[in-house]
Amino acid sequence: MLDFDVVTMFPGAFAGPLAYGMLARARRSGAVGVRLHDLRRWGVGPNRQLDDAPYGGGGGMVLRPEPFFEAVEWIRARFPARSERVILLSPQGTRLGHDVAERLARYDRLVLLCGRYEGVDERVGQALADEEVSVGDVVVTGGEVPALMLVEAVARFVPGVLGRAEAVESDSFSEGALDFPHYTRPPLYRGLAVPDVLLSGDHRAVAAWRGEKAREATRSKRPDLALEGEGREAPAGRRRG
Ligand code: SAM
Repeated sequence: MLDFDVVTMFPGAFAGPLAYGMLARARRSGAVGVRLHDLRRWGVGPNRQLDDAPYGGGGGMVLRPEPFFEAVEWIRARFPARSERVILLSPQGTRLGHDVAERLARYDRLVLLCGRYEGVDERVGQALADEEVSVGDVVVTGGEVPALMLVEAVARFVPGVLGRAEAVESDSFSEGALDFPHYTRPPLYRGLAVPDVLLSGDHRAVAAWRGEKAREATRSKRPDLALEGEGREAPAGRRRG
């Protein structure tokens, strides 16, 4: 069981993605919980102010630290957790990857802090967040879409969330390789045929073909991964028949 507590100016932005597919199922089954917290609740003063002008001048607004600190204190008091990680979504953070998602799935609770505007007062990253996580070397407008991506990626590693047939071990990046190519019906479409071996019923031949195709895909699409994985045996998912 893993709980996500998401602190955001826009809780409504999460409704759609949380209502469908794996995340909806995982929440219904109780394997994953997602609580959305409106940052405005901890806004400063009668206007519940969240942002202010940057010290030192310049354009844009910066999110104040107090609402984030108070939100996390409130969450801790209301929902105790045995192990917790507070994560600030930030383009300057550690890049979200297979290894990061797998590691984060071992906590009981992840608190996700979403920034907006020019970002969040530096003291949040310094003294409140345990780490900063980025979804890539690109800047998006707010932390909500990155937070959703993190929730999806991490939830896949929580036991019971994925069925056996869709286990993470057979996905790309598991053990440093890409997934093999997938085909379904029809066997011939617009002159493009499904490889004969997949129609042969020979499970050993299928497993060997998939292993080879996974290595080929890794070498051509992600040579960086192929180099890292050199000498390593083909991962179980790649060998799957
Ligand atoms: N001025 C900041 C910078 O250049 O580093 C960017 C601020 S961005 C417009 C506003 C918020 O979106 C950030 O505080 C963060 O929460 C979120 N965000 C933007 N890009 C992100 C990324 N690649 N990964 C994670 N969060 C991101």
